[in-house]
Amino acid sequence: MVAGLSWFGRAGASQAADMALVQAAEREAAARAEADALAARLEKLEAQVALTERYFTEAFWTALDAAYEPILKHRPLTCIVCGHTATRDGFEIREDRCYFGGGRLERYACPGCDCVFGPQKYLDLDEAFVGKDYQVLYSRYAEGDSTANELRAFRSLNADPAGRYLDWGAGGGWNRTLETLKGEGWNIVAHEPNAAAAIAESGAQVWDGVTGGFDGIFSNNVIEHFRDPVAQFQAFHALLKPGAKMAHASPCYDYCFAFTRFHSVFLLGRSPNILAERTGFKVVDSERDGEYINHVFQRL
Ligand SMILES: [Zn+2]
Repeated sequence: MVAGLSWFGRAGASQAADMALVQAAEREAAARAEADALAARLEKLEAQVALTERYFTEAFWTALDAAYEPILKHRPLTCIVCGHTATRDGFEIREDRCYFGGGRLERYACPGCDCVFGPQKYLDLDEAFVGKDYQVLYSRYAEGDSTANELRAFRSLNADPAGRYLDWGAGGGWNRTLETLKGEGWNIVAHEPNAAAAIAESGAQVWDGVTGGFDGIFSNNVIEHFRDPVAQFQAFHALLKPGAKMAHASPCYDYCFAFTRFHSVFLLGRSPNILAERTGFKVVDSERDGEYINHVFQRL
C-alpha cells in the first residue's frame, strides 16, 4: 500500500509539474504576442512621425516658395561675400531642388566675386530656427565618415606641437578625427554647433564658445554652410592669434552638392580671396585633389 500511495504521489506531482509547464508556456506565448503587438505599433508610430515630419517640412518650404516668388522679382539681393547688390536680373540664377524637402533652391552667381549664394529664403531665417532645422536633419541623418579629409585639413596648417587648435564643426560622432589627433598628442578643442550633445558625449574637449587665442582653426565640409561668411570670418579673426592660420576644406569651392538648402554659399573663383581681404586674412595655400579642395587663410 505504501508503495502504491507513493506511486500515486509521484503521479500527482508529475501532473502538477506538467500543468505548471503548460501555464508557463502559455504565459510566454502571451508575453511574446504582446511584445510583437507593441513592436508593430511602434513601427507604425515611427512611420507616422517620419511622414508627419516630411509633410510639415515640405508644406513649410512650399508655402515659403509661393510667398517668395513675387518678392524675389523686385527685391534687391546682396551677395553675402562681397556685398554686391542688384535685383535678381543682375545675377545668373542657379536652380536646384532640396533633397531634404526644402523645396526650390534658387541661388545667385555673383558677378562681383564669383561666389554662388542663396537661397534667399534660407538666408533670411533667424539663427534659432535654422538651429532647429539642423536638429531635425541630424535626428535622422549622419554625415559620412570624413576623417581623412579633416586630418588632411589639419595637417595643412603645419601645426605647432605646443599649439592649441580649434576643430570647427567637429561632427556628431560620425568621424574619428578628434580621437586620432588626441592619440597623436595634439591639443584640440572641438566645436559642433548643430550636434553639441553628441560631441560632448564623445569625451572631447569642447570649446566654451568664448575663449580665443588659438594657434589655428580647421574645418571640413563646413564653410559652405555659412549664412554670413563675412561675420563668421570676423569671428574667426577674433579667435586666432596674429599670424595664425585656418584651413577650410570643402568640395563646395566648386558648384556641387547643391541639392540641399543647408549649403548657402559656394566660394568659387575669386571669392575666397575677396572674403579673406574683407575680414583681415590672406589666402596663403590652396590644394585641389578631386573632391578635396582646401584653402589656408592666414590672419593678418
Ligand atoms: Zn559677391
